[in-house]
Amino acid sequence: MKIYKFKCVKCGNCCRNKNLIVTITHYDLLKIYYTLKLNSIDDLLDIVAFYEIDINDKELLKRLIYPEFIINNKYCILGLNKNNDGSCIYLKDNKCTIYKIRPKICRIFPFNFIEKSNNLQPQINPLAVDICEGLNKGTVVNFSLFKEIYIKINDEMKEYKKLISLWNNLVINKVIEPSPKVFLNFISGNINIKVEN
Ligand code: SF4
Ligand code: SF4
Repeated sequence: MKIYKFKCVKCGNCCRNKNLIVTITHYDLLKIYYTLKLNSIDDLLDIVAFYEIDINDKELLKRLIYPEFIINNKYCILGLNKNNDGSCIYLKDNKCTIYKIRPKICRIFPFNFIEKSNNLQPQINPLAVDICEGLNKGTVVNFSLFKEIYIKINDEMKEYKKLISLWNNLVINKVIEPSPKVFLNFISGNINIKVEN
C-alpha cells in the first residue's frame, strides 16, 4: 500500500473552496437537523443547496459517488449550502461550527478510497491536491479510521441510493411534485406517498 503523510494544519481551504461541494446523505442531514434542533423542512431548505449537474458529462458521473436526482426538471446532487464567497455556511472564523456532527465526506478529506481486487485502497482526493496544505506534512497516515468512515459512507449510500432511485421513479411517473421542499420531506421520511393505480 502506498504511504501518505498528512496532518490537518487547519488552513480551512477545504471548507472555503467554491468548487468543492459538501455532499451529504439523508443521515448527515438528519444528524444536523436533530442536533441543531431545527424546527421544520424550511429550516433545512436554508442549510442545503441543490447543485445542478450535467447528466451528459460522463466523466463527472463516473467521479460522483453521491447519486443525482431530479428537481424541477433538472438533475442535482444534494450538498450543504455555501456563502456567496463559496465557503461552507458552517465555517466561521476559519473553524467548523458543527465540527462534531460534520458530514462524513468532511471527515475523510483529503482522502478517498478506490476498490482494487476486493480491497479498499486509499488515495488522495484529486480535488485536494492543489488546496490541502496538510498533505505531505506530519506523520504517516494510519488509514483505519478513514477507512471505517468510508465504509459507513458506503453503507449509508446504499440506503440513500434506494431512496433516490424511488424518488426519480416517482418524479418520472409524475406521482410526486419534484420540488426541493417535497424532496427534503421525502428523504427525511416525513411524507406520505400516495401512489395512484
Ligand atoms: S461542515 Fe464543517 S468541515 Fe465540512 S465543509 Fe463545512 S465548515 Fe468545513
Ligand atoms: S485543506 Fe487539508 S489541511 Fe486544510 S483544513 Fe482541509 S484537511 Fe485540513
